[in-house]
Amino acid sequence: MRPLILVVEDEAGVQELLAYNLERAGFAVEQAFDGDQALTLVAERSPDLILLDWMLPHRSGLELCRQLRRRRETANLPIIMLTARAEEQDRLRGLDTGADDYITKPFSIDELIARMRAVLRRLRPAFSEEVLTFADLTMDLASHRVLRGQEEVHLSPTEFRLLRQLLERPGRVFSREQLLDLVWGRDQEVELRTVDATIRRLRRALNDHNRPDLLRTVRAAGYALDHKAGELVD
Ligand code: CA
Repeated sequence: MRPLILVVEDEAGVQELLAYNLERAGFAVEQAFDGDQALTLVAERSPDLILLDWMLPHRSGLELCRQLRRRRETANLPIIMLTARAEEQDRLRGLDTGADDYITKPFSIDELIARMRAVLRRLRPAFSEEVLTFADLTMDLASHRVLRGQEEVHLSPTEFRLLRQLLERPGRVFSREQLLDLVWGRDQEVELRTVDATIRRLRRALNDHNRPDLLRTVRAAGYALDHKAGELVD
């Protein structure tokens, strides 16, 4: 099941960008443009996490956050607050808002998703253990399915395990030796070039239909899951 994210933000452009990117990353998204709409959707849809902008019309995100915390049904609902400036974030941190994390605009989508996954992992472990995502890549650990966008990617068991290692720590560079240990096991008689060959096959499978390459080869160091998109949301 995909985690349902409620995005509470009055700016339509930001809403649209977030909805597009979160859905691409495997989340389901509901949108609220003010606090009243947010409260209605919280009651009707029981979201798994709320992205809550501080600056909202009528009732501020801060007020809404405190209100949700006071109610028994939503006292433990994961909330990440979005703030416009770093000073606001500092101020918020000093207040007893009850938010689980804060993120300052402009932020990168990858950074936001990593924070969301961290909060979900901590507070809603049932989700995070079953689905790993990065950019438009989704790996369902329960069903062993991998999707790039909406298209299924077919991988061998070894390719699947290799991709899983990279997906658990996006951006981190793994050396070929580390991947050999993690994917094939220390006691296997496998040569380092097997890692390279498996990466090549994985890359071919993932980049079918000329999709942007998500695997970075780091010369003399190893491999990482990475991409240069780095879109910033204002
Ligand atoms: Ca706003």
